[in-house]
Formats: sequence, C-alpha cells, structure tokens
Amino acid sequence: MERLRELFDLVAHHGTTTAADIGTHIENSGIGADDFRLATTIALLQKLGDQPIDFEQFAAIVGDELLMVNRAFRRQLVIPDWQEFCSDIETVYRHVATDRSGSNADYIPILRDADPERWGVAVCSVDGQRMGLGDVDVYHSIQSVSKPLTYAFALDREGFDFTHQFVGMEPSGRPFNALDLLPDERPYNPCVNAGAIMMAGLVASGAPHLSDREITQVIMNLWAKLCGHVAPVHFSEETMLSERDTADNNFAIAYLLRGRCGLPRSVDLHKMMDVYLSCCSIEMTARMLSIAAATLANGGVCPITGEQVLPTDVVKKTLSVMQSAGMYDNAGVFTLEVGLPAKSGVAGAVMVVIPNLMGFATFSPRLDAYGNSVRGVSFCRQLVERFTFHMYDSISGGRTGCKRDPRASQHTRRQRDLTDLRWAVSHGDRYATKVRDLMLDCMISITLADGEIEASELATMAEAYAELMNEQPDPGALQQQAVACQQRAVQEGRHGATGAFEALVERLRRELPLLDDNSRELILEAAFRVSCADGEIEPEEDLQLRSIAEALAIHEGVLELEIARFQRQLPAPR
Ligand code: GLU
Repeated sequence: MERLRELFDLVAHHGTTTAADIGTHIENSGIGADDFRLATTIALLQKLGDQPIDFEQFAAIVGDELLMVNRAFRRQLVIPDWQEFCSDIETVYRHVATDRSGSNADYIPILRDADPERWGVAVCSVDGQRMGLGDVDVYHSIQSVSKPLTYAFALDREGFDFTHQFVGMEPSGRPFNALDLLPDERPYNPCVNAGAIMMAGLVASGAPHLSDREITQVIMNLWAKLCGHVAPVHFSEETMLSERDTADNNFAIAYLLRGRCGLPRSVDLHKMMDVYLSCCSIEMTARMLSIAAATLANGGVCPITGEQVLPTDVVKKTLSVMQSAGMYDNAGVFTLEVGLPAKSGVAGAVMVVIPNLMGFATFSPRLDAYGNSVRGVSFCRQLVERFTFHMYDSISGGRTGCKRDPRASQHTRRQRDLTDLRWAVSHGDRYATKVRDLMLDCMISITLADGEIEASELATMAEAYAELMNEQPDPGALQQQAVACQQRAVQEGRHGATGAFEALVERLRRELPLLDDNSRELILEAAFRVSCADGEIEPEEDLQLRSIAEALAIHEGVLELEIARFQRQLPAPR
C-alpha cells in the first residue's frame, strides 16, 4: 500500500485529485491514449473527466496497469524528461524550417505540385512516447521509403540465402536509378531501384496466386502493423498511374535484370514492376512512419501494440542495409555525419532509426541534388550535433562536446555531477579544484566584462556560486580573486574591460584537453548562471556564452538548446 500511496501523492493535493490530472500526468510522459499498456486506465480516466478522485478510487482505476502507470509517473521511460526533450526537438524543428533550398521532385505531377512549404517532424520512442510537429498528418507517397520494408518482407518470407541470390549488400555509390549491377550481375543492394525492383519480383514470385494489388495489400498490412494501426495506410492511384507512365528507366532496369541474372522463379516482369511501383505509391504520414521506425528501433516489436511485427534478425539486416545505402548516393556522407540507419523517398520523407531509443520521420518535399529531403537531412544533422545519437558517440571517451543524452534525466545528472564535484573539492582533489576554479573564473570574468565589479554584482555572483557549490563564498576572497583575475590578464598583456574575459577564453582553450564533458558542462553552467542572473541574456552576454562554449568545444547547437530552455523558464511577458 505504501508504494501505491506514494504514487497517488505524486498527482494528489491534500488527498484528492481529478481524473483529468492523472490523465495529464500520463500524457506528459509521452504515452498516447491508444497505448496498449495503458488503454484501460486511460479509457476509465476519460469517462471520469473532472471528477475528484480519492486514494481508493485511484487504486481501483490504475490497479490493472500499475506497473506502467508507475513507470510513466516516475519518469522511468526510455526518455525520462519527455517534455523537455519535445521542447528541444521543437527548437531544432524551428531552426530547420527557415531552410527553403532544394526543389520538389518533378517527374510526376503529384510530386511536382505538392506544397513545398510542408514541414513535419514526428518522434516515437521505443517506449511508445510520441510527439509530432507541423505537417505530420499529411499523407504522401512513401516512394523509396518502401524499399527496406519490401526487403524485410522478402527476408522474412524467403530467408537470407535465397533472397541474397538475387540482391547484393554493397553500397553502390551510384545514383539510385542507375543501370549498374555487381560484377556477379546481382543488383548492388535492396535500396537502389535495381535491388528494390528485384525484391518486388521476389515477393511477387512467392505469391503466384495473388495479383500485384493483392501483394501490395499484404505489404500495406505489414506497414499498418509496423505503425501500430494508428491510422490507415493508403494507396495513391494517381501516383501509381503517373509512376507507370514515367517508368521507362525502371523498365530498362527490369529488362536488364531479366537479361543478366534472371528473375526469381521467372516471375512475370510486368507483375514485378507493378508490385514495385505500387509499393512506391503507398501513402502514409510522418507520424505513422515515426512509429514504424520505432518498431525497427525496438527490434521489430511495435512499441504501442507490443506485437512482434518482424523477427529481430530480419530487422538487424534491414537496418544494416539502410545504414550503408539508405540515403541514395549520399549514404556514405550521411553515415559519417549522422551515423544512423535511415531511408528517404522522393516525395520528401526521411525515416530514421536510433536503435534501442526511438524512431523519427520528417516530411518536407524540397530535395537536394541526391534526391534527399533538404530539411530532413538538415534536421538529422542538427539533431546529431546536439544529442549523442551518432552510433559512434558511444566511443567518445566522455568527450562528445557536451551533447545531450535524453536517455538520462539531464537535471538528475547535473545534480549528481555537482554533488560529486563538491565532495571531491572538499577532499582536495586536484582535478575537481581546477574545475571549480575555472567555474569561478568564468563567473568573475563575465561580471568584470562591463568594467569594475560592483557590490551588487559581487552579491549576485556569490549567490550563484553558493547555489552551485553549496557553500557561501567569503565576499572578501571573491573580491581578491577578481582582482587577481584582472592582474593576470594585465600580465598577459590584456588590458581594458574585456582583458579578463579574453584571458579566460584563452585559459579555457589551454585547459580543454584535460576537461571531460561533465566538467565542461559545469563550467558553462557557471557562466550561464551569472549571465542569466538578472532574468535575461543580453546580446553581450550571449556573445560571451558563445565564446566560452566555443573555447570549451561545446557545439553552438547545444548552447542554443540551453538558451531556449532558459527562455522557456522565464515568466511569459504580460
Ligand atoms: N518511384 C521512384 C522511382 O522508382 C522512386 C523514387 C524514390 O523515392 O527514390 O524512380
């Protein structure tokens, strides 16, 4: 009973709450109303609306799904600070929205005429936490995003050996629609047109009793399961007809395949092409694709239905192919910069998988020279500059440039780092003392930057220091340290108000090789505290923070998230 009571107290005030409040608590964790693990609780809560709920009623309502309610309330989902994470995603989303470069695919009218301004980002974690921004419910043809799934379907049905008699696994480095084959005459991989056409042929050859449309329907059913049936999977007749009208190059590929390596079980070439083109004409939304990506991130188990949609082994192979060949002939650069398995399509979708964490999908029709959505790729890059999502961020030796890791609560981590620092300083640890001194130097240099240190500034600084280090500094000692700071700058030949600040930046640069992510973050935090002490970051302070971040090799995107976070905490202007 004790634990249940504690859980209740998280949502109750003076022994009572409302169903709506409990619902909001669940919603804030990112879990949607249709999540299979909380469906009963959420349905009950919705029925009760604003009614007051006491402890006994609470126990009865959540009893059936207690474990999950506990996880949602106690922030034990894979992304604990979900609301914070959503705000960060929104910061990046807005950033990318200003990019209007690139242009729509124009080989068929429906893509040429699509609204180029559309911009949507949807995220789904492997725990089923979901969010969407902008045009996430706009249906568009999935085009090449269909390719990895057709491959997964073939692997599942036909097995690895038979499937790979007809397709390779090498990145081609050539345009997606090239008429190029491996020396052994198989297509390079399942993500280039030749490979995808072959996979369509393989799937068609395994279902001789079904028409091309019936086969497409089976694949659409698989998509529906992957995205947890949150919305119907559509088919665009118009896209299909236009695709067929403009498919000369794809037909050339099909004939080449038949002439060179032969088609699986001598399947009819036209049936193969119709399955391929209709898979491209399947329509989904970014929200749906983000859940499908999350299912792949979760080893084939859909996070919001709990269904094992694809065997984990098939998912591993599919992700490997996406990793090496998913972003057309820019896949190598994408892997280097973003380091995640992804697949794009010419309608403007990008579907990205962060294994064991989340899937996300973007939608924006303007494409770059490779055929990838400009904003989609830019979003991926910017995300990876700010978060430890690149697959090799895990071998950074604690030096990612202070990228965020949403798997851990940032607040909890920072508190722990501070506690550790105070403890180590109190025992005379050399490294911790250096970090503490740099923190203090930052605070002093920022305060000095507008000339002399006034008494009120000294008091603000002392307060910020006390908050961080949990000890009241001696004002006299602080004053002395400030003077020492100025003198050091003069000795280094730096004069005037900015001298001390320039000396600080120089010192940070020098010390950088010794500082791990935790220390850099704490130093930036110290700088941040004094800059924000008066409730706003003035342009001068903004520049200083940027210089400090730069000297500490903290990416400016990370600093921007920090600034946006600070601004969110300010009271709204009246
Ligand atoms: N329907 C397109 C084609 O086969 C696919 C385009 C794509 O998204 O790459 O040419």
